[in-house]
Amino acid sequence: MKVLKFGGTSVGTPQRMKDVARLITADGQTNVVVLSAMSGTTNTLVEIADYLYKKNPEGANDTINRLERKYMAHAEELYATDEWRQRTLDFLKETFDFLRTFSKSLFTSFEEKVILAQGELISTNMVTNYLLEQGVNAVLVPALDIIRTDKNAEPDLNYIRTHARAIFDTYPDKQLYITQGFICRNAYGEIDNLLRGGSDYTACLLGAALEAEEIQIWTDIDGMHNNDPRIVSGTEPVRQLNFDEAAELAYFGAKILHPTCIQPAKYAGVPVRLLNTMEPEAPGTIINNHMHRGTIKAVAAKDNITCIGIQSSRMLLAHGFLRKVFEIFETYRTSIDMICTSEVGVSVTVDNRTNLRAITDELRKYGTVTVDDDMCIVCVVGDLAGQNVGFESLATEALRQIPVRMISYGGSAHNISFLIAGSDKQRTLQALQDTLFKYDGHVRRNA
Ligand code: ASP
Ligand code: MG
Repeated sequence: MKVLKFGGTSVGTPQRMKDVARLITADGQTNVVVLSAMSGTTNTLVEIADYLYKKNPEGANDTINRLERKYMAHAEELYATDEWRQRTLDFLKETFDFLRTFSKSLFTSFEEKVILAQGELISTNMVTNYLLEQGVNAVLVPALDIIRTDKNAEPDLNYIRTHARAIFDTYPDKQLYITQGFICRNAYGEIDNLLRGGSDYTACLLGAALEAEEIQIWTDIDGMHNNDPRIVSGTEPVRQLNFDEAAELAYFGAKILHPTCIQPAKYAGVPVRLLNTMEPEAPGTIINNHMHRGTIKAVAAKDNITCIGIQSSRMLLAHGFLRKVFEIFETYRTSIDMICTSEVGVSVTVDNRTNLRAITDELRKYGTVTVDDDMCIVCVVGDLAGQNVGFESLATEALRQIPVRMISYGGSAHNISFLIAGSDKQRTLQALQDTLFKYDGHVRRNA
C-alpha cells in the first residue's frame, strides 16, 4: 500500500481532477490518497477570514459568492451523470451556506480554522464523487478522525497510528481511501491545521503510521532540482536524496516540500518519492535513508535573513557568554538558523524580525551589536562529512567574486551555508551551479 498526495495544482481544474483519478486507479492497488484544496482556494479562504476579522461581512460574502460560482461551474464540468452532479452541487451549496453563517457571529482564530478547512473538504468530496461515478471502489475518509495534534501543536503520533490503522477495519475491501491533507483536530478536539503547505505533512504522517511501501508527493515539476530553476540556468532534477539532505533543502528554500514533513517518514523508514502529475512517467526524486557518498546534491537559498553580530572583549577567555546570548533569543522565541563564533564575537542569523528590537536592546548589555538586513542564506547540500576533502574549498572557490558575510561548515555532515547579501543571490547561485555541477574532479555530477 502506498500513500499518494496531490497538491493544489494537481487538482486545480476539473480536467486535472480527472487526470488524478486516472493516475490513482492505474495500478489497481489499494492506496491511500491525500488531496490538497484546489489551487488558490486556501488563499481565498484566508481572504474571507481577513474580511471577517476586519468586520467586513460584505467583503466576505462577495468573495464567498465568487468562490461558490467557480465551484458550481467546476461541478457542471466534472460529472457526466445528473445524479453525481446534483449530489455534488448539494454538498457545495451546503458548504457555501455554512461559510456565509460566519458573518453573523463572533470571529476568532477558531472560526478561521474552520473556514480554512473547507478547501480540502470540498476537493476530496468532488474527487471521491467523481471516482464513485466512474464505478471505482473508493471511500472518503475524514482526516479529522485521524490526524490530531497534541498540546504542543505537534502531531500526536500514537493517536494517528491507531486511527489510521482503524480505517481499514471501518471501511474494509476498498480500493482507494481518499482523505484531506492539511486539516486536523488539535488536543482539544477543535478543527485545526498543519500550517500552510501541510498536506505533505499529512501524507508523511499517514505513510509512517501505516508503514506504507512508499509516500508519493505529486506536484507539477519533475522532482527536486539541484538549484532554483526560476533564477539559475542549467538546473537538473536530483534523482535521489537522503532524508537529512532533503530536510535541509526544504528548510533552506526548495519550495517543493514542506520542511518538517519528512521527519516521520525518515523515522519510519518509508521512502518519499516526488513525482510530476504533468509527466507521470518521469522518474522524479526519491528520498530515502541511503547516503550517496562523495556527491554534492543541490543548492538552495533562503531570503529575508537578518544577521546580528555581537562583538565583546568580555567574551575573551570567558565562559557562559554564549549561554547569555542564546537565552535572549529564547526569551523572545526567535530561532537562530546560522551561527559563527570567534574568540571575541559571535554572529547569528534569524528569519523572524518580530522581536528584533527587544533582542538587540538586550544584547547591547554584552557588547557592540550590528544588524544587517536583507541577507540570504545559501546552502550547499550533499555528502560533506569531515573526511571528504575538496568539497568546501570548491564551494568557497566558486564564490571568490562574492562578498561572504558568514560561512558555516561542520554543523552537520551534509551542509555548508554561506550568508551573502540578498542582492548577490542570483549570481551566487549561478556561480555554485557552474562550479559544483560541471566539475568532474572530486565532485561527481548527480547520479
Ligand atoms: N491547502 C493548503 C495550503 O494551500 C495545504 C496544502 O496545499 O498543502 O496551504
Ligand atoms: Mg505544497
